[in-house]
Amino acid sequence: MAKKEQTPKIYFLDVTNRDGVQTAKLGLSKLEKTMINIYLNEVGVFQSEFGFPTTRHEARYLEANLELVKMGVLKPIRLEGWIRAIVEDVKTAFKFVPNIKHLNLSISTSEQMLKGKFRGKKTGDDIIKEMTDAVDAAKAMGAESIGVNAEDGSRTELGFLVKFGLAAKEHGAARLRYCDTLGYDNPFTIYETMKALAENVVMPLEVHCHGDLGMAVANSLAGAKGSIDGGQDAYINTTVNGIGERAGNADLVACILAITKSKGFAKKYQMGSPIKLTMAAKIAEFASYAFDVPIPLNQPGVGANAFAHASGIHADGVLKDPENYELYSYKELGRGKPKFVETGREIISGQYSGVAGFRHLMGKMNVSFASRDEAADILELVRYANVQSHKPLVEDELLFIAKYPHIAQKVLTQTPLVLETV
Ligand SMILES: [Zn+2]
Repeated sequence: MAKKEQTPKIYFLDVTNRDGVQTAKLGLSKLEKTMINIYLNEVGVFQSEFGFPTTRHEARYLEANLELVKMGVLKPIRLEGWIRAIVEDVKTAFKFVPNIKHLNLSISTSEQMLKGKFRGKKTGDDIIKEMTDAVDAAKAMGAESIGVNAEDGSRTELGFLVKFGLAAKEHGAARLRYCDTLGYDNPFTIYETMKALAENVVMPLEVHCHGDLGMAVANSLAGAKGSIDGGQDAYINTTVNGIGERAGNADLVACILAITKSKGFAKKYQMGSPIKLTMAAKIAEFASYAFDVPIPLNQPGVGANAFAHASGIHADGVLKDPENYELYSYKELGRGKPKFVETGREIISGQYSGVAGFRHLMGKMNVSFASRDEAADILELVRYANVQSHKPLVEDELLFIAKYPHIAQKVLTQTPLVLETV
């Protein structure tokens, strides 16, 4: 068994801007997706799956965010697009988003999907051929890194997964994503599978978990351990606040906590890049506001009750020494700063805001404009952003627009196709 010389490490690959926004009844505006990328970069997340390069209304947002990479605003985070593992999608991705550098190619691998989704029209070998053709096309068109996703991996026979992974590796893929698409695994099974994949495919692995049985975070931890024990780096797929299809994905903050705080884990298993946990409260609150989904009261680390103590024994204990009843401090998650809520007159940004109100609002954030015209230009962008998000912009969004108006303009511009049939 070929092992890497260095100890393998754990990285985070956040899929909020792909799996998260695919969630039924939920979505994010393009500016909100941009802010998520910015916050993920600040957290220290290795890669953001930032959207769908084959979807036309994503194209400008994706290109604008790739410009932020070039400008050094989104650094060191990698932005990667999700497409199906077919040549047609690769071509469309490079047509719509010519500057895309990183891709994940996804295809179903399970017997169930071969029968139920492809209706028996495709064999396992067909699936592998489609995937390797897509990997070849992506490489030829200039992709710098390619991840290959085995969708419904947890219901796929291990032997086939290994064959699939080896074919991906042989064609130059950088990582294999093991998708527990239905949340079917448990920590014991996913550990064994990930370890076997690491040992037999011998390439870095991604672990992608869902919460249908309430084990997304535990499975991610166990899967990462399996990969590392098998000698390979592990990339845990997360979403902010665990927002995702059905019962959701593995929560970013909870996964970070599990790796760094659970019994003995951090001593043996380490992160590949420094993580700034103090960003936790901020990113969780923003995602909650942007998705319009409250953070559950009992959410690990960032829920309103995560550091609340009412019972006499616990309150007394925690006051004597917080470690009596708290595993980690609220300060580590960036909590405990006073929040200012306006209780008097409030000027907020909206689709119909005027220049005077807007200058007042920005003045409170110490942003001033050289002229009335400049303020009016920025306000125009703010109005459009508001049309897309249907809610007042947060301070960071306003500051972003004021600082990068040309990027904001691209993010906010959407032009539907000319209709040819009606
Ligand atoms: Zn998923």
